[in-house]
Amino acid sequence: MGVYEDLGLTPIINASGSVTRLGGAPMPRKVLDAMTEAAAGSVPLEFLQAKACVNIAAVTGVEAGIVTAGAASALTLGAAAIMTRWDRGRMELLPRSESFPNEFVIAREQRSGYDHAVRAAGARLVEVGFNEIVSGAGVRRTEAWEYEAAFGPNTVGVLYVFTNNSEPPLSEVVAIAHKHGLPVLVDAAAELPPRSNLIDIPSTGADLVAFSGGKSIRGPQSTGILAGRRDLVGPAFAQLVDMDDHPSLWDPPKELVDIDQLKGGPPRHGIGRAHKVSKEEIVGLLTALELFAAGAYDEEVAGYRQRLERIAAALSEAPVTCTIHDRGDGESFPLLDIVVHEDAVGKSAFNICAALRAGSPPIYAGHGKLAQGTLTVNPLNLDDVTADTLARRVLETL
Ligand SMILES: *Cc1c(COP(=O)(O)O)cnc(C)c1O
Repeated sequence: MGVYEDLGLTPIINASGSVTRLGGAPMPRKVLDAMTEAAAGSVPLEFLQAKACVNIAAVTGVEAGIVTAGAASALTLGAAAIMTRWDRGRMELLPRSESFPNEFVIAREQRSGYDHAVRAAGARLVEVGFNEIVSGAGVRRTEAWEYEAAFGPNTVGVLYVFTNNSEPPLSEVVAIAHKHGLPVLVDAAAELPPRSNLIDIPSTGADLVAFSGGKSIRGPQSTGILAGRRDLVGPAFAQLVDMDDHPSLWDPPKELVDIDQLKGGPPRHGIGRAHKVSKEEIVGLLTALELFAAGAYDEEVAGYRQRLERIAAALSEAPVTCTIHDRGDGESFPLLDIVVHEDAVGKSAFNICAALRAGSPPIYAGHGKLAQGTLTVNPLNLDDVTADTLARRVLETL
């Protein structure tokens, strides 16, 4: 019996990848060992975050960084820092923000449920552009001038969601924002690999970038990274860490805090106090980041591909079409599409996905393309045994 069985739960076969809903990515043994060791000792969290700052800066090429409670938390803290800077009065007011500039301009086509994290800091989102391709009403994407036209006295920054086909290009948005002295906060939560994005996204000049720690980096699921300008990461740090020190003893790390900016003393617990990151989580993330950045996971890519090929081979006689999508960059893991011939099978991909979940052990296939009759398989959490079980269960369900 394992811990989940003790709780009366059945562990699932996760064929959906690092999705949060199913527990994220598997942490490497080295990460787990580092977390166990870290949990046994005590260190001031401020100094641990200062070490994280140095390591994150080295890996991303930015001035500063902190470990946050997920990329979503990095977005809340980044938005808070852009609105407050080092102003303790503003920090204390958040999420109330009516008395100072609080608007972030965002392309309408980049809106998602994750931007709730930015609104949670008290920010207001001002949308520009349209979503004409999705609405079927045109071919144009958002254009950089539309941001500029929306900038006004209440604009405090730009929120940009990075993907490899985001429009307009991040560098154009950065240029237009900087022309008006506005910082750009980037959601790049799931944009790794390629690991070059750790450097390439910040090198566009983006002021703050959020990465998820629990996706491809394979750190603790509840971690993320906020990386960027030191004068913005600092106020984010100050609104994250616990402030219950005696003001006359408080000696914040110089990597993150300009004490001259806080002559009156430390702020109170900030909006990010609810986003606590523990010492073992910080150590786990830093260990995983080191592995990821060094390419330590690349050697597993061939094994992922083999597992998907075994599944495809097992389904070769079935009324489905299997296609492996492989970026072939040596670091991204391949994905398998299983297109269900719904007429021949007499069941939809939705029916099959639901039946896989309802079986024993429950199998959670990727659900992103079900409307196109396709089950997707992400191999990140699969081994040879679970891959074979998945193939067998798909056959039975068909
Ligand atoms: C996953 C994701 C997030 C949230 O990341 P967490 O680390 O789970 O907080 C935010 N934005 C996008 C685009 C994501 O894919």
